[in-house]
Amino acid sequence: MAEIFFRSMNRRSFIRTGLAAFGTLVTLNSGCSIGLMKTDGKETRLALLADIHIPEDVENNYRGFYPYRNLEKIIPDILSDPPDGVIIAGDLARLTGQLGDYANLKKLLSPVAEKTSIFMALGNHDNRENFLKAFNETPGDKPDIKGRYVVVVNKAPVRLIILDSLLFTDKVPGLLGKAQRQWLREYLNKSDNTPTILCFHHTLSDDDDALLDVPRLFSIIMPIRKVKAIVYGHSHAYGFSEFQGIHLINLPATGYNFSDSEPVGWVEARLRSRGGDFVLHSIAGNQDQDGSVTKLIWRKG
Ligand SMILES: [Zn+2]
Repeated sequence: MAEIFFRSMNRRSFIRTGLAAFGTLVTLNSGCSIGLMKTDGKETRLALLADIHIPEDVENNYRGFYPYRNLEKIIPDILSDPPDGVIIAGDLARLTGQLGDYANLKKLLSPVAEKTSIFMALGNHDNRENFLKAFNETPGDKPDIKGRYVVVVNKAPVRLIILDSLLFTDKVPGLLGKAQRQWLREYLNKSDNTPTILCFHHTLSDDDDALLDVPRLFSIIMPIRKVKAIVYGHSHAYGFSEFQGIHLINLPATGYNFSDSEPVGWVEARLRSRGGDFVLHSIAGNQDQDGSVTKLIWRKG
């Protein structure tokens, strides 16, 4: 179950406060099992972004949001305390994955790439060929799955597997497909017991614009208990839910929201072997929950 609460200090001082003071805050506000968290030991800290929608034309805007400027604005925030890695869960490009979109993205990300590793998933507004032309050298282990861009990211004490749900550029639904699912099943069966988080672009509902092979994916991962959570974007809405003990983490969009009630920004994740904390950094849209922390505990096994 996700537990959400708010800090009472400003965001910067909160970030610097560290886990000990944070424990007090948890106890005061939610009474959750902080003892468990304190003994959790090692953690990795990641910046999670989605739906950045970087355009070739930097003035391109939608609903009053300028995606280029939004990413430009959050990069100094991320660099003020460089995380162990940055994950961008797809819809990297504005609409059709043009080379000019990716050239701008590369330019924006270059100061980040100097400090930490950046891992990207492809969304329905990306073009795989153009992405690979622009980003011909990317970090992480890349298994050979025909026509798919998959990355395994080992960030102790967790592992992330970035999957490719891009089906057709600029058409909304997504699909992992049989070859990728088969690879995933085999990989999960042979890999060690490191808590594993899947990341891809599409949402998991049964809507026609979501991931079309959700039941097949869940039939693979439900019995493999080291799979703890799925991180995704696509909806441009921030939210936490759970299915069969697997946490579903829907990242807010960085580029623009579809609804005024949704934040625009990114999420700072502190991931441990037994759970994780997720801090919202809202830069636009609904900023009421800026700095809110959601604590998750992974399913056992
Ligand atoms: Zn999007």
